[in-house]
Amino acid sequence: MSLSRLAPLGSRSQVAAIVSRFFQSLKRRRLLVIFLSALVTFILFGRLFPVSKSVAQSSSPRNAIIFVADGLRPSSVNATDTPALYGVGQQGVSFPNSHALFPTFTTANGAVIATGHYLGDNGDFSNTIYAGFPVPNAGNSVTPFLENDAVLADMNDHFSGNYLNEESLLAAARAAGFSTAAVGKVGPALIQDVTQGNRSNGVVPPPTTIVIDDSTGKTGGVPLNSDITTYLTAAILPTTAPDRSNGAPSTSQQSNGFSGSNTTPGTTAANLTQQQYFVDSLTKAILPLFQSRNKPFVAVYWSRDPDGTQHNQGDSLNSLTPGINGPTSKAAVKNADNNLNQILTTLKNLGLDTTTDVFVTADHGFNTISKQSATSYAASLTYPSVNQGFLPVGFLAIDIAKGLGLPLYDPDQKNQLVTPGSGTIPRPASGDGLIGNDPNNPDVVIAANGGSDLIYLPNASNRQALAPRIVNLLLQQDYVSGLFVDGALGSIPGTLPLSTINLQGSSLTPTPAITVNFRTFHIGCDNPLACSVEVADTGLQQGQGMHGTFSRADTFNYMAAVGPDFKQGFVDQAPVSNVDVPLTIAKILGLNPPPDKQGTLVGRAISEALAGGPNTVASTSTTLSSFPAANGLRTILKYQTVGSAKYFDVAGFPGRSTGL
Ligand SMILES: [Zn+2]
Repeated sequence: MSLSRLAPLGSRSQVAAIVSRFFQSLKRRRLLVIFLSALVTFILFGRLFPVSKSVAQSSSPRNAIIFVADGLRPSSVNATDTPALYGVGQQGVSFPNSHALFPTFTTANGAVIATGHYLGDNGDFSNTIYAGFPVPNAGNSVTPFLENDAVLADMNDHFSGNYLNEESLLAAARAAGFSTAAVGKVGPALIQDVTQGNRSNGVVPPPTTIVIDDSTGKTGGVPLNSDITTYLTAAILPTTAPDRSNGAPSTSQQSNGFSGSNTTPGTTAANLTQQQYFVDSLTKAILPLFQSRNKPFVAVYWSRDPDGTQHNQGDSLNSLTPGINGPTSKAAVKNADNNLNQILTTLKNLGLDTTTDVFVTADHGFNTISKQSATSYAASLTYPSVNQGFLPVGFLAIDIAKGLGLPLYDPDQKNQLVTPGSGTIPRPASGDGLIGNDPNNPDVVIAANGGSDLIYLPNASNRQALAPRIVNLLLQQDYVSGLFVDGALGSIPGTLPLSTINLQGSSLTPTPAITVNFRTFHIGCDNPLACSVEVADTGLQQGQGMHGTFSRADTFNYMAAVGPDFKQGFVDQAPVSNVDVPLTIAKILGLNPPPDKQGTLVGRAISEALAGGPNTVASTSTTLSSFPAANGLRTILKYQTVGSAKYFDVAGFPGRSTGL
């Protein structure tokens, strides 16, 4: 389906392929408007997607590696602590005006990095979303957590074989004959080429793209092909991935997966053992295999660190300092840096460094968690394993159910009734909630995620009436900072439309009715983005780590790129974001860019960062403000644009979002 690499555009066979592809799209998706506009473009300019000059002129095929350091803040990167991460930006291009997409969560930005489309198109609105159907491998919950290969396969089963509704960079590269691999954290790894996890007669056949993640070799994981199995075995590497325990008991502080409790500090160890396996798999098996094939390749490496460690760290139980700036979090940043160093060294040793471009990014920033609120009803009740007076996980669902006077059910506990503060289910297990008299036909669905939550209103009969009532409830809570609402629900004072942040598009999954951004503040340090704190809907403790807000502390991620097609020692002051990463790589590789699919919410290739590219690109800055609510609160949004691409800096109520 993709344009073949380096083929001369305008040839008759290619025109036929393009026309045929668009007719297939037309039948399948009824994209009449896009087809006609493409046809006009074709007639006017004689071509659809020009192959970039640098590719047409380059003598040797290019490879690409996207290295994602999950949850890496720019403030963590320097020459001493993280020489590899820092060095990429120094030798190649650094991006001091970089962005993660809101909601600042992993699968959301993973889908953006995969497809080059904003969330309104790819539909991966957060780590936990409302799927609109009971998801079998999520225990039949309608609010699945997407960091799970079997759940992703369920989503594809339900949504026409590809819940993202877009062709990813890896899929396009695979179709064009590249070798492809996605290695690292379960969820975002498979999302890079998500249809490779599709089942046939109930089982996932060994895919063409190599997927190695937490689930490799385990039930529900994506199987390995015989060729990579041979290379793993030759490198004396197992074909089953280690877990996050570092070989310690699961309740030991040496286990990276240990998050502790409100009385026991969490882990003091980075995700060392598991990530050593992942990076060894890439450098000792996958890259040698790819080199032996004598074909170009694209690989994505997803380092769970520093994210997993910053979440679970036990340096700061119940205290806002040192929070995510303690020794355990620093060790996790170092672990990610070591992984990158091993990859860069291997490229050099294999002689691949002169033909391989490396793009480093992070899916989001990070904050320390606060569990405090003076206005929340949920925080006034008592729960097991929650400090008295603190917000429990599920506080948003409890507060909205209370405000609406409707019962609350837990989709993650077989839709059982929640009795806040008492009984066997005193709060939702994971924060998600079904509100209404019938849990099988709820009026309100809460998908809880951390620094922001999603609210869905599935019933056409009452959603128009419920939306302003829920907004009014949220405007009374000190933990809310900014509300974005589905434009179909009208203009509600105090809120901005979802479309202003590119959350409304051609997605197959249900679009949230309301996104709720939680409050952030900083506790006093030279760089407020390095010591920001957020209220979070999570089972983790005050003093541990979370992300997901629209604060600049969560939208500001680390980005840098190096390789034969990037400028050297260049500081790119223009706004860039994760949505640009696959489009830039696609341009370098001469691939049919991912935006040639559903929807129009796309980023841009970062041309000014490429060798021979312009010195800069024109950008604008905009501040939007909603009409004030009755109590004076209004949602402010600051963003930049380059062409039609938008870069969302920060949003929220004045005084309640770091960086606003
Ligand atoms: Zn995370």
